[in-house]
Amino acid sequence: MNTSGLRRSATASAAATLLLLAGCSGSGSPAAEDDQVDVVAGFYPLEWAAERVGGNLVSVSSLTTSGAEPHDLELTPQDVAAVSDADLLVYLSGFQPAVDDAARSQAGEAAWDAAEAADLSLSSGGSEHAEEEEDEHAEEEHAHDEGAADPHFWLDPLRLAAVGDALADRLAELDPDDAQAYAENAAALRADLETLDAEMAEGLGDCRVDTLVTSHDAFGYLADRYGFDVVGISGLSPDQEPSADQMAEISALVGERDVTTVYTETLVDPSVAETVADEAGVRTAVLDPIEGLTDESAGEDYLEVMRSNLATLAEGQSCS
Ligand SMILES: [Zn+2]
Repeated sequence: MNTSGLRRSATASAAATLLLLAGCSGSGSPAAEDDQVDVVAGFYPLEWAAERVGGNLVSVSSLTTSGAEPHDLELTPQDVAAVSDADLLVYLSGFQPAVDDAARSQAGEAAWDAAEAADLSLSSGGSEHAEEEEDEHAEEEHAHDEGAADPHFWLDPLRLAAVGDALADRLAELDPDDAQAYAENAAALRADLETLDAEMAEGLGDCRVDTLVTSHDAFGYLADRYGFDVVGISGLSPDQEPSADQMAEISALVGERDVTTVYTETLVDPSVAETVADEAGVRTAVLDPIEGLTDESAGEDYLEVMRSNLATLAEGQSCS
């Protein structure tokens, strides 16, 4: 009798503590006012995928505000608190060092790294100029050295579909009652991305120019999927500035490979790409690496901006 009484009171007091905690924490945990899963995403494509896969079962926020360049994101104390309160942190290891740190120190079991599902099998170009750049930037936290994994998987629609599938599995672990809904949402996302992939394969299947010259080295997976060679004027991160020698090398290459268009991008200062285009006497066009959306983005979401990229590429690479 004694033992069972003790157990009962211990249970009652634990329940009271839980109620108290739920009352204090306000929003942010499934125990509070609604039962949505609280997801924090590192940057736009992961935010979009989480919204698609989670639907109205999740509430998604992004650490990278719209219009900000995600590579060199710094977190505010509020961001760190959001990571620490989240039911799930969806991030990409090796892409945003500040988010990697927060995942380690704040998120614990709630951290979910998209890297494995994304299959980051490409590394930086590994050309001669990437090597020089490595020396100059060796001290940087970014670690975008030669041979570092290329993080920009989302520009390959099929890699993003694989991340959606894996994310559905992870959400189902957190919220098993809704596993079916997550699986269905991920399948719908995959269907949309496979349709996009088919359009891109068709639209970029026969192009006169095979070399893509872009501002930073964001389009490796897209190039790999649709059969282009890619030359990034900066390295894997847009804060890497090319030297005069590298600029001259790229200008020469533009001439050799009959490139007619050098691509600038949203969120990054276009002046370096414009200089290359000027020197080589070719045009520029805007390609969007979809690292974040703004009011000026050529579409409302990932799918629309990718279709705009397709139209830009089909013209710039002289595809028929
Ligand atoms: Zn990038």
